Amino acid sequence: MKRIVVLGAGESGAGAAILAKKEGFDVFVSDMSKIAPRYKQMLDDHQIVWEEGQHTESLILNADEIIKSPGIPETAPMVKKAVEKGIGIISEIEFAGRYTNSKMICITGSNGKTTTTSLVYHIFKKAGYDAGLAGNIGNSLALQVAEDPHEYYIIELSSFQLDNMYEFHANIAILLNITPDHLDRYNFEMQNYVDAKMRIIQNQTPDDAFIYWNDDPIIQRELRKYDIQAIQYPFSELKEKGSIGYISEGEYTIEQPEPFNMEQEQLSLTGRHNIYNSLAAGIAGDIAGIKKDIIRQSLSDFPGVEHRLEKVATVRGVHYVNDSKATNVDACWYALDSMKTKVVLIVGGKDKGNDYDPIKPLIREKCSALVYLGADNKKLHDNFDALGLPVRDTHSMKECVEACYELASPGETVLLSPCCASFDLFKNMEDRGEQFKELVRNL
Ligand code: ADP
Repeated sequence: MKRIVVLGAGESGAGAAILAKKEGFDVFVSDMSKIAPRYKQMLDDHQIVWEEGQHTESLILNADEIIKSPGIPETAPMVKKAVEKGIGIISEIEFAGRYTNSKMICITGSNGKTTTTSLVYHIFKKAGYDAGLAGNIGNSLALQVAEDPHEYYIIELSSFQLDNMYEFHANIAILLNITPDHLDRYNFEMQNYVDAKMRIIQNQTPDDAFIYWNDDPIIQRELRKYDIQAIQYPFSELKEKGSIGYISEGEYTIEQPEPFNMEQEQLSLTGRHNIYNSLAAGIAGDIAGIKKDIIRQSLSDFPGVEHRLEKVATVRGVHYVNDSKATNVDACWYALDSMKTKVVLIVGGKDKGNDYDPIKPLIREKCSALVYLGADNKKLHDNFDALGLPVRDTHSMKECVEACYELASPGETVLLSPCCASFDLFKNMEDRGEQFKELVRNL
C-alpha cells in the first residue's frame, strides 16, 4: 500500500488526507502547530492517524509522496529533508486533480483572486451550473472531489499552491496581474514568484482558454517565453491591440467567443481594478456558454466580498471603507485610485519588503492625512512624513479609529488599505477588518 504523508492539517491538508484515505492510501497527517478541533474531528471521523505540535521524522520520511500545505515554506527543515531523500512533494490541488475529470476554472494573480473567483462562481451558480468553489476559499478541492463532487470547480490559486503543481491542467485559466508580493517566500527573487504564477498555463491544450490582463508588463514579457497552446482571451481597460474584452464609450464589451456588452454603469463592483475583475469573470462565463442575460444580471447584482473596498458606514458625513485585504502596495494603489473624495488613509502592519514609491503620487493627490497603524511605524515615517501631510502614529485599532475620527472632515473617506500584512497586531486580515468595522459602528 502506498504511503501518503500530509504536512499541515488546515483546510487543504485535512481535505487531501480524506481523499487519500478514500483512494486507498496509507495516510498520515503531521502538523507542527496545534490542529483546529474541526479538522481533528474530520480526521478522526475518517480513521486517519495524525500528530500535532511535532513532525516525527520516522513517520514522515517513509512516505511515497508528500502533500504539503501551501503555508509551509520550502525552507522548513522537514521539507528540505524530504527533498534530499527524493520524495515527491505536491500540493493538495495537484493531488485532487488526479481523481476528477471535472472542468477546472483556475484564477491567479497578485491581486483580485478572491473577488474574481467569487464573481465567476456567482455567474456559474446563477446559470444553474453544478459548480464548487475551491482553493483559497470555500472547502478544499480534495474534500469536494472525495465527498461532494461537482461538474465545474472555480479555484482560487495562490503562488504557493501553484509551486507544487506539475500535471494539473486548467480548462479555463485566468491570470489577473503580477506585481511584487510574498518575496520573502521566493528568496527575494521576483522571477521565482513570476515563474510560480505562470504555472497557471502549464499543460493547457488547444481546447483550453487562457484569459489574461493585456496591460500587465510582466505578463507581456513572460508570454514571449512560452509556447501557448490554449486559445487566448486578453482583456484591458480600453480597446487596444489584441484585447477581446474592454470598456468602450461606457460599454463593457466582450468580443469573443460570443459578442457581449452591457453598460459599464450597471456593473456592481466599482473601481478600475474591478473593471479588470469583471472582464475576466465575464469572459470566463462567456467561454462556458452562459447566456448573456445571466452574465449581465450576475455582473450587476454581485454583492462584493468582505474586506475588499467594503463600505462600512457614514458617520458625521465621513465615509468609512474597509479594504483590510489590501496587504500589498498595488492593492492600495487601486483602492486610492477608486476614491472619489479626499482620503484619510490608514497604512501599516507587517511589511513584506514594500517599495512605497508607486503610491506616493496618489497619496499626494488624494490624501488629507495619514494614520500609521503598526507595531513598528518607522518605515512609514521614513517614507511618508516628507509628503507634509498630518500624520498620526497608532498601535491599536482603537487608537487608530479615534485618530481618524479627529482628522477626517465631512465629505471625506477614511480608508483602511494598509499595504501590509496584519500579523504584528492582529490575528489576520479578517480580524483587522472586523475590529475596524466594530469600532467604526460604535463611533
Ligand atoms: P486576492 O485574493 O488576490 O488577495 P482580493 O480580491 O482579495 O485579491 O483583493 C485584494 C486587494 O486587492 C483588495 O484590497 C482589492 O481592493 C485589490 N484588488 C482587487 N482586484 C484587483 C486587481 N485586479 N488589481 C489590483 N488590485 C486589486
